[in-house]
Amino acid sequence: MSTSKPRILTGDTPTSTGLHLGHFVGSLENRLALQDAYDCYFLIANVHAFTTLAEKPADIRANTIGIVKDWLAVGLDPDRSTFVLQSEIPAIAELTFLFAMLIPFNKVMRNPTLKTEIETKGLGETYPFGFPMYAVGQCADILAFRPELVPVGEDQEAHIEMCRDVALKFNQVYAGVGNRVLADDHFKSGGVFPIPKAKIGRVARLVGTDGTNKMSKSLGNAIFLYDDAKTVQKKLNKITTGRQSPTEPGDPTNILMQYVDAFIGAANPARAAELKAKYAAGDNIGDGHVKAELGEVINALLEPMRARRAKLEGEQGDAIVLDVIRRGVKKANVVAEETLAAAKKAMKIDFGGRTVG
Ligand code: ATP
Ligand code: MG
Repeated sequence: MSTSKPRILTGDTPTSTGLHLGHFVGSLENRLALQDAYDCYFLIANVHAFTTLAEKPADIRANTIGIVKDWLAVGLDPDRSTFVLQSEIPAIAELTFLFAMLIPFNKVMRNPTLKTEIETKGLGETYPFGFPMYAVGQCADILAFRPELVPVGEDQEAHIEMCRDVALKFNQVYAGVGNRVLADDHFKSGGVFPIPKAKIGRVARLVGTDGTNKMSKSLGNAIFLYDDAKTVQKKLNKITTGRQSPTEPGDPTNILMQYVDAFIGAANPARAAELKAKYAAGDNIGDGHVKAELGEVINALLEPMRARRAKLEGEQGDAIVLDVIRRGVKKANVVAEETLAAAKKAMKIDFGGRTVG
């Protein structure tokens, strides 16, 4: 289906059974807000999940289905947007290899997002070659759909920057776009790729319940969208701030106050400001009280999602997901193949298309 709307591409890696609050404030909210005005492509990076879970294919499959269920539960709409399963889009793999020639190896290894992941996920020295390669692969995920915008959390900024560099270089080297042409003018100056921009969410980086790292599927510090009300409250109650009593002046930037901003502030900014002022002054407001109020607000946000997700449980739900994936793959491959053909033509490796068998 061709459309004149500008495009969005973004996605999630199926490294866990579902999505968390960080995804919601960092990216899902923007996806929901932009779903009508843009032609949206939402990608499940199931091949990239193998970079850390290579020995757990069954988990990756279950996680893939779980994440699509979360998308549906949150309100991403497969009739308006295209759900893309990475492993079924061959053009992405081909573009990955071609783009790998346009990025210096050392630059990939210096990518701060990768470095942080290697550290926080404890990957040590033994991560596979494919792990840093995923950063190049992500350029292909994005550029295969030639989007203008990529709604992501702050942790992805370095990757989007790399993707912009690849697109600029490709257009300059293979499509004759001059070195002085501004990024925004590349496409209309004959570039194969528009130069995409990151769109950072309302909360750029939601801290995890450990209070230090970003909330992350892989770090055991996440409140998941499908957690039941009790689990949400339990996870909040476990947060430690080091504060001893309700009259001790609290740090207005600590994890609880960040959550107050992110969740109470969204619905009721006046209440968030009042809570923060009292907390900072030690005006008889305990961490326990803040946690209870947060629990209420977060559970009110999650309840409708949980209800929708519950309807997708079991094999019937799985069948709905598989159908959504099948439909998405069909649409996505049309666009990605068009992009690959344009890229191969520009690179002078167009020899009449594929014939297999
Ligand atoms: P993993 O631990 O496997 O890396 P993750 O929790 O980081 O998982 P991703 O699938 O890597 O999740 O990220 C999906 C999207 O959600 C990205 O756009 C990312 O920037 C955004 N995102 C993830 N965590 C947060 C967070 N804590 N705050 C804001 N945005 C986030
Ligand atoms: Mg991540």
